[in-house]
Amino acid sequence: MHNKISLNIKLTLARKFPYNAIKFLSDKVIPIHNKNITFPRLVVLYITELCNMNCPYCINKKSRKTKTSPNSNTLSLNDIKKIIKETSINSSFLYIVGGEPLFFKEINEVFSYLKENNICVSLTTNGLLLERYASEIIETLSFISISLDGGNANVHDTLRGSLGSFDKTINGIKELIKKRGNNILPIIKIVTVITKSNIKNLIEIYNLCKELRVDEWQISHNCFYDQDVINNNNTFIKTYKSGKNIEGQFIDTNSYLSNEEITLLINEINKIFKLSETSSLNVTPYPILKDDDFYPYYQGKIPKNINSLCNDPFSRLNVRGNGDVELCQGVIVGNIYENNLRECWLSKEADDFRKLIRDNKFTPACHRCCELKFNF
Ligand code: SF4
Ligand code: SF4
Repeated sequence: MHNKISLNIKLTLARKFPYNAIKFLSDKVIPIHNKNITFPRLVVLYITELCNMNCPYCINKKSRKTKTSPNSNTLSLNDIKKIIKETSINSSFLYIVGGEPLFFKEINEVFSYLKENNICVSLTTNGLLLERYASEIIETLSFISISLDGGNANVHDTLRGSLGSFDKTINGIKELIKKRGNNILPIIKIVTVITKSNIKNLIEIYNLCKELRVDEWQISHNCFYDQDVINNNNTFIKTYKSGKNIEGQFIDTNSYLSNEEITLLINEINKIFKLSETSSLNVTPYPILKDDDFYPYYQGKIPKNINSLCNDPFSRLNVRGNGDVELCQGVIVGNIYENNLRECWLSKEADDFRKLIRDNKFTPACHRCCELKFNF
């Protein structure tokens, strides 16, 4: 499996964001966890935790609010501008997520401010409002990720619990491709999360991605956790006085993929890799699993060895819809109403968590996280 991001794309990004490119190259020479940088390379901004969908498997279910909720968990435009400014001054990368970011009522003002600040920015969307904001997206973003769970309306709409969502998303993607014309940016990526219900549909999604002429298709393995992980995590928090919530989807052991389903999944994915060898579509599994790893991964086994040091606590901060600033897995290191991002990044709480990760004391929640390379 190789990443097909072309030299042309890399040069376009480097020309547009030279300081980001210099930092990126310097991190290739000296790994980020061996440095003490004073500002994160990546800021993930949950501009709103409101969403216009209500997917049954949403991993942000606890923090996500619906339209009718009294507490919308949404930042104000001024808060958002403050975060954009600080991120842009530090030549870091901004990743806008939700809830549904395009559902934020002043999203046009956010796009204008992003353009004014010439910041390298990515946005993840469920696609329902893509068509409406296609022009702004093309003018502003460097990357866009669009969730798609099925290659036809029946599979996608059923999984999402939202009738008509497939057609809206596909029309939106077509509009983006049309408006981008011969330009390289934004890079358009479709993201599919594997579930029991779409294994047999993966090849159809692959063909659809090719037909739509998107740049990348990310196949995400389901990031789930079970009661054992919760119990181990609680012990970890007591022992090390650090760590917190678990991100991901809780499932009970009865809902694991069966051996037959796992075998089918391996076969389908291998077929897709074979097909993609002769195509310009970049197919990226996340995380990368060897065939033998699929069974223990989907049976919820804890890996014996972790072969990498996670970069996230050394490179990334999350700003949540209620203003909390989070390092990883609910470890709160400040709040935007009291601290700027640099203060949060340099806080004692952040340092304590990084120390644990540096000492290979991964939290039990880390075992089900996609950021690590592991062996069962
Ligand atoms: S679209 Fe995303 S944020 Fe909204 S409910 Fe679905 S998974 Fe959750
Ligand atoms: S591996 Fe652990 S520290 Fe790294 S992103 Fe995942 S949960 Fe966070």
